[in-house]
Amino acid sequence: MNIEAKNLSKIYGDGENRVVALDRANLEIVSSDFISIMGPSGSGKSTLLHLLSGLDKPSSGSLTYDGKDIYSYSDKELSAFRRKRIGFIFQQFNLLPVLTAKENIIMPLLLDKQKPDEAYLKQLTELLGIQGRLEHLPHELSGGQQQRIAIARAIVNEPKLLLLDEPLGALDLKLRQDMQYELIRLKNELGITFIYVTHDQEEALTMSDTIVVMNQGYIQQVGTPEDIYNEPENAFVADFIGDSNIIDSVMIRDKLVSFLGKKWDCVDTGFGENKPVDVVIRPEDVILKEEGAGTLDGVVSHLIFKGVHYE
Ligand code: ADP
Ligand code: MG
Repeated sequence: MNIEAKNLSKIYGDGENRVVALDRANLEIVSSDFISIMGPSGSGKSTLLHLLSGLDKPSSGSLTYDGKDIYSYSDKELSAFRRKRIGFIFQQFNLLPVLTAKENIIMPLLLDKQKPDEAYLKQLTELLGIQGRLEHLPHELSGGQQQRIAIARAIVNEPKLLLLDEPLGALDLKLRQDMQYELIRLKNELGITFIYVTHDQEEALTMSDTIVVMNQGYIQQVGTPEDIYNEPENAFVADFIGDSNIIDSVMIRDKLVSFLGKKWDCVDTGFGENKPVDVVIRPEDVILKEEGAGTLDGVVSHLIFKGVHYE
């Protein structure tokens, strides 16, 4: 399912309470991509996700699924469309406490008066490693198992698109990493398109084909994890993704930049001559040498042992 959002805006309230939660967002999503939406709290991630799923309608702009304008559907058509095609996973697992794991999983099917496809259910629960837990009640399961049940429930009706809003936020680090691998595996095996909201940059870099970086209701950059990390389009993106040193500099001419009183060769072109620019230096790109042997002398003021490396 190809999705195209054009100039999507969402404005809440008016007068003094007016908030532009999303400002003219453009986005193209191709089938079975893993898209992450990243940004600080309040940057419009959930708003964008809700608009993309038709859970909410925009103040202006359009959204098409395989060329069909889904905002032109009636509310009834839209909710039928969502139930069939889109799965949701939120940070809160929202399992019904009085139902067993299996009953929770097949709930969306029962609501639609469908019978579960036992073979698919078996594949799904095995894929998620919960086949032995199906007769248990939610309170008899660990947090990770509950989240897996919620994931199985979201994809039990074989949606084409899965929307996840900070789904691993409530899990501890180790479990979160395990679930990251499982989600990727799930995506690869089932060929579903994932749209994943997170504020965890490592999660976004590890899991995504495409990352959307947002700030203050604007999409700042859309690109592969490598693009976003290596070629940030602005200082916000550079600062938000990864650690970076951002230094006021002057582009002397193509491929030559000046900062901290020295001239440096670089790969960038097209900024003109003697133009002010921001230079971003990733910490791992700094090479330490004996005093006097490098381009700049400096002082190491803090040293932190991080296991794999020192910072
Ligand atoms: P994020 O998910 O990135 O934290 P949101 O999309 O939830 O951000 O919110 C973006 C902005 O829109 C925030 O300033 C938020 O306060 C505002 N907002 C979100 N939902 C509503 C609403 N229902 N009414 C008024 N303001 C809202
Ligand atoms: Mg949110």
